[in-house]
Amino acid sequence: MRILIDMDDVIANAVERFLEWYERDFGVRYTKEDLRGTKLHMIVPEEHRKIVKEYPHCEDFFKDLPVIEKSIEVVEELNNRFEVYIASAAMEFPYSLPHKTKWLDKHFPFIHWKRRIFCGDKSVLKGDILIDDHDFNLSVFDGRAIMFSSPHNLNDTKYERLDSWLDAEKLFDLK
Ligand SMILES: [Mg+2]
Repeated sequence: MRILIDMDDVIANAVERFLEWYERDFGVRYTKEDLRGTKLHMIVPEEHRKIVKEYPHCEDFFKDLPVIEKSIEVVEELNNRFEVYIASAAMEFPYSLPHKTKWLDKHFPFIHWKRRIFCGDKSVLKGDILIDDHDFNLSVFDGRAIMFSSPHNLNDTKYERLDSWLDAEKLFDLK
């Protein structure tokens, strides 16, 4: 069984970086609860919107992102049992490429480079399962599409859902 796993907001916490940079620049700390069903650029004052949307295009945005809780342990276990690929639509943010590679080397060294896909449109992916936080990636996938919960997608009811990597242990019967 081939399982494709997204990076941002599935194993790497990009939401946290948005909140951190916004606080650094504007002195206001929004919370994950504030982001329920939306994105940070939608709730900040209109004059800050463009700056927030630019964050992931900045050179260091993806550097040393926090790891999503329990993802290392559970993905390693999945990798021992199944054919696991990490698949990120990284081409949208060219500066992210070296940071994502280094980040995987550091936190997910068991994912061989042959099992890392940095792509553009994820509709090219072929596999049995895709775990991703975005509807626009899940909706074009042919196999079983599983939505990984992130504040922005909490109101979406179209997909099977994983609320955390702890839930994945149950879903894939790893314990
Ligand atoms: Mg993502």
